[in-house]
Amino acid sequence: MKNLIFIGPPGCGKGTQSNILKDAKGYTHVSTGDLLRSEVSKGTDLGRKISDVMESGELVTDELVTELLKANIDLSSKQYIFDGFPRNVKQAEILDQILEGSDYSVIYFKVDVENLVGRITNRRVSSDGKHIYNLISNPPKEDGKCDQTGQFLIQREDDKEEVVRNRMDVYSRETEPMIDFYRSKNILEEVDAEKSIESVTEQIERVLN
Ligand code: AMP
Repeated sequence: MKNLIFIGPPGCGKGTQSNILKDAKGYTHVSTGDLLRSEVSKGTDLGRKISDVMESGELVTDELVTELLKANIDLSSKQYIFDGFPRNVKQAEILDQILEGSDYSVIYFKVDVENLVGRITNRRVSSDGKHIYNLISNPPKEDGKCDQTGQFLIQREDDKEEVVRNRMDVYSRETEPMIDFYRSKNILEEVDAEKSIESVTEQIERVLN
C-alpha cells in the first residue's frame, strides 16, 4: 500500500476523506493541523505561540511543523495519509526526503475556491476534533451533537469568516505553487472534490487501484 499525500485548499474535504479511508483501508491519518491543535491544548508557552499563529490563519514555521511531523510518524511499519503537510514547496521538498525509498501518490482535491468560504464557515467538529460535519452538506443527526460520540460540536476559531479569508490568501500564495511542483514530477492525481463525499471516495479508490 502506498503512502498518500492529500493536497487542496482548506475545507476541500481532505480530513473527511482521510477519516473514511483510514477506517476502510487501514491507513494511519496524520494531520499537522491536529498535531498542532494537540500541542496548543497542552497550554505550554510553545502552544500559546502556535495558537496565535493558527488563529490568524497564517502558517506555523516549516521547522516546527517538520519536527512535529517527524516525531509522530513511523514509516517502517505504517502507511500514512498526509493531510495538511506539505503546505508549501519547501515542505514538499522536505517530505520528498522523508519519504525517500517509500512509494507514494499525491492526490489533489480540486474545488472551486469561490465556494469554500461558505463550506468552511458551516463546518463543525466534535470537541476532540476527530469527527467532521457540515451544517449544509453533512449535518449531524441531532443538532449540535456528534453522531458517533455524542460530544458537542464546535466551530474552530480559524473557521470564522475573517480568518478563513486570510487562510485562502495564504493558500493561494504559499500552497498553490506546490501543485505545479508535483505536476512537474508527473505524480499528481486530481479528484473532483465538488462532488458528494461518496463520489470523492470512489474517485480516490480508483486512483489507488
Ligand atoms: P488545518 O487543520 O490543516 O486546516 O490547519 C490549521 C492551521 O494549522 C493552519 O491554518 C496553519 O496555521 C497550521 N498548519 C497546519 N499544517 C501546517 C503546515 N504544514 N505548515 C504550517 N502551518 C500549518
